[in-house]
Amino acid sequence: MRMYDIIKKKRDGNILTRDEIIYFIEQYTHGGIPDYQVSALMMAIFFRGMTAEETLHLTMAMANSGDVLDLSGIHGTKVDKHSTGGVGDKTSLSLTPMVAACGVPVAKMSGRGLGHTGGTIDKLESFRGFTTDIAASDFIRNVNHIGIAIMGQTKDLAPADKKLYALRDVTATVDNLSLIASSIMSKKIAAGADAIVLDVKTGSGAFMKKEADAFSLARAMTDIGNLAGRKTIAVVSDMDQPLGYAVGNALEVREAIDMLRGEGPEDFHELCMTLGSCMLIAGGKAQKKEEAEEMLHQVIQEGSALRKLAQFVEAQGGDPEAVYHPDKLPSANYIEPVLAHEEGYVSSIDCEEIGICSLILGGGRETKESIIDLSVGLVMNKKKGDFVRKGDVLAMLHYNDAGKAQEAEERFRRAYHFSGEPLSEGREQQRMIKGILE
Ligand code: URA
Repeated sequence: MRMYDIIKKKRDGNILTRDEIIYFIEQYTHGGIPDYQVSALMMAIFFRGMTAEETLHLTMAMANSGDVLDLSGIHGTKVDKHSTGGVGDKTSLSLTPMVAACGVPVAKMSGRGLGHTGGTIDKLESFRGFTTDIAASDFIRNVNHIGIAIMGQTKDLAPADKKLYALRDVTATVDNLSLIASSIMSKKIAAGADAIVLDVKTGSGAFMKKEADAFSLARAMTDIGNLAGRKTIAVVSDMDQPLGYAVGNALEVREAIDMLRGEGPEDFHELCMTLGSCMLIAGGKAQKKEEAEEMLHQVIQEGSALRKLAQFVEAQGGDPEAVYHPDKLPSANYIEPVLAHEEGYVSSIDCEEIGICSLILGGGRETKESIIDLSVGLVMNKKKGDFVRKGDVLAMLHYNDAGKAQEAEERFRRAYHFSGEPLSEGREQQRMIKGILE
């Protein structure tokens, strides 16, 4: 087999066989094919696309390019959850203890934030001492003992995707549906869970700005997961404005704790209930959404979900006291309001810009090597549809560096758009949950 022939075949719009896909992935992983040939193939795929079958073969080839975790030592149906990324998305922090408290084992692989989106591992590191750098044996033991464990992605998990994603990033070939779906699903399949619940975001803060694209990605990923023998459910959810009010690592942890106390913002609560129900159904604990939601309500009300978070934090080396006393979490030296310069109804918010404000304050990573400040960020006070008067507080900025705060404040204000009229779009377009696909 020759890489040249594979590139030419795709360039001419033909369908690659399973063997051809396995060949280029195996060769590329082990350095047998140069970057320039794989770049050419990625560009051919970008323009010609891939069939559902080719996408599945690519996913499986990448999933099998390194370690495939064996979670058979964990009792019960293990459920993983993945979000395509957004601003203020602290869902995993509340959702995983809620689901574990209901008796479904959560074995989750998480990542760090890059650019305007945050990452679960960074947020969890707001608990002093917390680590996701744990051995596979501890990961399995923790899931069996307390029902939940979160691990960082090891370098040997889907190494083909790691190389390919880095190459796509610099060759303008990231935003292709088959390539995104296979990239995400290869890591999820290699991570070994029996069931996968996907949160596919759509809107100005998401990868998929258009709802129709988010549905296509959700469909492609659920098809791959289910064909690979993993029960897969996707929820398409709104990311046209930040989730909840808090954006920034420790600030988001506080809001996640509020949620577990039954005091979370409405949109965040709704998303946790929906994803949580899907996880309970996928894990075989509930048959119907109503039954699952009742179980989730109960673990919040009786406090067992909050206790589960404390147990989980402690099991991974963190300070569990901060779960009950969030003032022990990192906090910024200065907190100042951002005041509105305009009046009107908030008609739209550039969500990505809000993520960038947190990044500017030091709460995100410009590059993989950046060191982040866990204490900084912002807590919004006004969201879409709210009426704002000049001088009203749009948000509170939490910062440690006045120069950065000034830049963030100006950008934050520019991210808001106002109208003299209440929002004209119907509840349909504003709703948090756009759809659920299986
Ligand atoms: N996230 C991934 O893991 N892969 C992609 O291709 C895009 C987003």
